[in-house]
Amino acid sequence: MSTLPAPPEWRRLGSSDIAISSLAWGMWRLAENGRTAGEAARLVHAALDAGITLLDTADIYGFDGEGGFGDAEALLGEVLAAEPALRERMVLASKGGIMPPLPYDQSAEYLSGVIDASLRRMRVETIDLYQIHRPDILAHPQEVARTLEDAVAAGKIRSIGVSNFTQAQTEALAHFLATPLVATQPEISPLRIDCFENGELDQAMRLGLTPLAWSPLGGGRLLSPESARDKAVAAELDRIAAEQNVSRSVAAYGWLMAHPAGIVPIIGSQSAERIAEGAQALSMHWTRQDWYAVLVAARGERLP
Ligand code: NAP
Repeated sequence: MSTLPAPPEWRRLGSSDIAISSLAWGMWRLAENGRTAGEAARLVHAALDAGITLLDTADIYGFDGEGGFGDAEALLGEVLAAEPALRERMVLASKGGIMPPLPYDQSAEYLSGVIDASLRRMRVETIDLYQIHRPDILAHPQEVARTLEDAVAAGKIRSIGVSNFTQAQTEALAHFLATPLVATQPEISPLRIDCFENGELDQAMRLGLTPLAWSPLGGGRLLSPESARDKAVAAELDRIAAEQNVSRSVAAYGWLMAHPAGIVPIIGSQSAERIAEGAQALSMHWTRQDWYAVLVAARGERLP
């Protein structure tokens, strides 16, 4: 049985000179449950100590509809203020362009303002990867490109990515950017497989974008599957996980990482133990048979 290549411990972020870990940690849920800066610091350490150096946040994380905009970034800012040396150990990714309930704004005025606001909240001088969170249909990609390139030139951001963009939107922004786009962040998981066959990952490979997978466990749904299809996907992952002595979630990360586009799963857990456990995915090995068995379960029908 042929085995797929193992994921590397480090990759380059797109065509940039930024080295990233093959797994990322996401801070969407960081500012929940009254988490203190001390508790948040413990999670940051857990990720970094496990070799997970790409940390992903966004300006709307922490938004609960009651004015909590920016809470996750601000909490990370507290962690970094208490321990500035942590900044050197991480590749910091954030996003902007959604201002609920507006909802999307990528005009030059708005976007340049929110980049500055993110820098202030996180108390950093530069963001290594700045991503447009969701496309603003009313913003011309040429204007968005100019705003982002001005921010690169000013040293406020080091590289540019997109999230939740259609392929045409990605292509249009890339066309107007003189600096290459380095990343795309769609939802990808064993329960969300659209991009394997709709051309998104093919486009990422063609343009040299690193795909960052958001909600790699389906937001947790993979751990408590309800539909027959979701249960079948979980059962396939469990079979392979048992053979390799890892958990279902680790098998899910490993399955994504085995794809040739170099998918980087963004671990969403806010448990230090479960974040660290994610790194076990690096030592998994996948046969084509096992990889396709998970895909077939997710499709809910045989391949032609
Ligand atoms: P996920 O990994 O699919 O789901 C994480 C959730 O599953 C957590 O609530 C976690 O709870 C739970 N979980 C239960 N059992 C678990 C286990 N054994 N191992 C790990 N987690 C387990 O990811 P996500 O939180 O939905 O999203 C991950 C990241 O993607 C976010 O932090 C954010 O950076 C990014 N994201 C981006 C977008 C976008 O539009 N660009 C949208 C959504 C998310 P515990 O914390 O208790 O472990």
